[in-house]
Amino acid sequence: MKTFLLVILLIGIHCSFSSKAVAHNGGHYHQQDELGTWLLASGKTVHGNFFMGKDNTIVLEQTGGKLITVPLDQLTEQDRELAILKMQRFNELNRAATLFVKIKSSAFIVNKNWLLLGILISLVCSYGYWYRKAVPNRYLTTITLSSFLVLVVSFVGQSNRPPKTSAAFIDSAFAPYKPAVQTSWDSAYFHVASTGLPNHEMMVGIKSWQQQVPLPQNYTGNNQWSIPLQPEYAANPISTKTNFMRGAVALAVNGVPIFNALNNRGDDAFLVGELDQWGGHCGKGDDYHYHVAPLHLETLSGWMPIAFALDGFAVYASKEPDGTAMKPLDECHGHVGSNGIYHYHGTINYPYVIGAMKGKVATDESKPAPENQIVPQAFARPVRPPLTPMRGAVITDLKATANNAYSLTYQMDKKLGYVNYSWDANNYHFTFIDINGNERKETYPRRKQQ
Ligand SMILES: [Zn+2]
Ligand SMILES: [Zn+2]
Repeated sequence: MKTFLLVILLIGIHCSFSSKAVAHNGGHYHQQDELGTWLLASGKTVHGNFFMGKDNTIVLEQTGGKLITVPLDQLTEQDRELAILKMQRFNELNRAATLFVKIKSSAFIVNKNWLLLGILISLVCSYGYWYRKAVPNRYLTTITLSSFLVLVVSFVGQSNRPPKTSAAFIDSAFAPYKPAVQTSWDSAYFHVASTGLPNHEMMVGIKSWQQQVPLPQNYTGNNQWSIPLQPEYAANPISTKTNFMRGAVALAVNGVPIFNALNNRGDDAFLVGELDQWGGHCGKGDDYHYHVAPLHLETLSGWMPIAFALDGFAVYASKEPDGTAMKPLDECHGHVGSNGIYHYHGTINYPYVIGAMKGKVATDESKPAPENQIVPQAFARPVRPPLTPMRGAVITDLKATANNAYSLTYQMDKKLGYVNYSWDANNYHFTFIDINGNERKETYPRRKQQ
């Protein structure tokens, strides 16, 4: 009987040991939100920092601690989306106030069910020993204590986690693109600040254009990019075919985000002619981003990673990290390298960068899949309403005409049209000259961080 009980106890211990880690769904959120100006659907603006959110109202804090409330339905769609995200973040932080969630969101994560089963079996065993008085009390104490010791150790003994990535290694991948990108790190995340504008040409070759142009983005401060330093393997990698049509899945080492290969209509953005010769284009926030692997970065990056996925794993170009030919890829679009750590590869065919997130990621499901997105990530702030696609236009040139000034040229019906734009401390200035020579000017305020 003693042997039987010992076996049960060992099963309990084994269960605790072999428990798989659950999703790190606590996410990583910054306590101080970067906010400044909120756009209302009426066209008016409200200033204030996000303080809290409840039901369908957000509370903003203004200078001097003054609080004002703004109903969500008064905001523009983009700002409402941002407000919802911040409310989720707020709720997340509140929940994290309890010890349980602190443990759950720490590095030591175990599957709760297996843990409870382990505790239960250990207790039953201990009780069994005590009840049958099969062992003196000191043995009972020893067994109970060691059961709990084993359970504590099982918190640490997670096998589903590759070694922590060295921040210095990630930093060396970004180094060739400094000072346009700025890096920093803490114990959990490697942070990258950038404007999202690359040092290569942009936009030329786009055949399906929604009239957006590249503007510098505020991927700084609390809106920086965050790459987890401690990736964890996902039990079920989330497919990029049916998820993450919004937001980035990776960050290129030049500070430009890499989005899903499929656009928000589910089309392969490259194949439908939406991308320029460098694999990028601009979103509704006039935010430049890639939808395919920026393999051209290999020229400067060599054998180093050309990007890091938002699950923390590196993305290499056409070569293995040791310079040998790329080995076969799995359905996530990567494999375990000779160092025992997983990495992705960029290629010239779909899915180009990531087929599924090999590592665990927290997701924002305020819009259901495929419109969900990975969090944390940096957000673009649109400065003007989105325009409609300009059918038949092909972008032939984008050049800097002065400091903070660009001229974009497109061709349509064998005639040329232009978008000349610039920005100063306060405003963005646009001049649209269509193919018939008609001119239209628009000015939009620059929204500052406060
Ligand atoms: Zn896009
Ligand atoms: Zn490889």
